[in-house]
Amino acid sequence: MNLRVSGHSTALYSTCWAIEPIGLLFDCGDGAAATLQQKGLKIKTIACSHADRDHLSGLFQFLQLNSTSNRPLVLYPKDSGSFPAIKKFTDQFDPHVAGNTKWQGIENGHVQQLKPNTFLEAYPNRHIPRSETSQGQHKSLSYSVYCDTQKLKSEFSSLSGPEIGRLRKERPVDEIVDIVRSTILTYSADTPIENAKYWKNPEVLIHEATFLNEKDLTSRKQEARHSSVPDVIKMASEMPNLKVLILGHFSCRYNHEQIRETIQAEAKRWNIKIPIFAVLPGEFVRDILSATPVWEPT
Ligand SMILES: [Zn+2]
Repeated sequence: MNLRVSGHSTALYSTCWAIEPIGLLFDCGDGAAATLQQKGLKIKTIACSHADRDHLSGLFQFLQLNSTSNRPLVLYPKDSGSFPAIKKFTDQFDPHVAGNTKWQGIENGHVQQLKPNTFLEAYPNRHIPRSETSQGQHKSLSYSVYCDTQKLKSEFSSLSGPEIGRLRKERPVDEIVDIVRSTILTYSADTPIENAKYWKNPEVLIHEATFLNEKDLTSRKQEARHSSVPDVIKMASEMPNLKVLILGHFSCRYNHEQIRETIQAEAKRWNIKIPIFAVLPGEFVRDILSATPVWEPT
């Protein structure tokens, strides 16, 4: 699948990532409507990771402009009280939103069908530690998008096209094909670093990288909630299927040059063989994968 990823992401201020071919928006921070403009009308699903204001404050204007034809569907962690409050407000303030936007509080493990073979899966992250919530509640989610494709079972691999056609008429489909699942994209959302295996072996990873070094990460007890560029790049080097890494959610304490230099130094250190793109503080990027990567393997 050819992904067009657009968006913006600056820690503390605003984050949203649009995945255009599948009509999906991860988070909806301030300015989401302005970033996407008329492309906002193509968004069918908004997958919200948590209720920090930089991830949801764009919902008011986005929904006001783009709620039509029974969409979008807004998915959110079911134990976050902020989303029902926004629903209540927008229902009263913009009545056409109430008639079209659907809201669904979801739990860990929720799977949402996006297209016939394409699914969105939600799972927990540790951005909002469970110790800070009532028992059993999860208030911060990460998301992966996976595709299920049919692959002819190996015992039939020597058959001709017409023979396979006949077989399909004679036998149930699950006797002829295996379902192969591939994760095309993972969105970490705000999160402390995890093991490489945690992210479901994606081809494209959008990961937060709030800090450039361990010292800043561990100051003010931020380490439990966010990630650093060195940690994320080291982790990405251990992901066997990864084709593209997209970094965002940088703290605006850093200038663009500092961020680029850190990414390049870490990519070199870990001998990264894939391109790394970055959405830098204050940038609004359309189709980031067609832009120049910050790191390109030689
Ligand atoms: Zn954030």
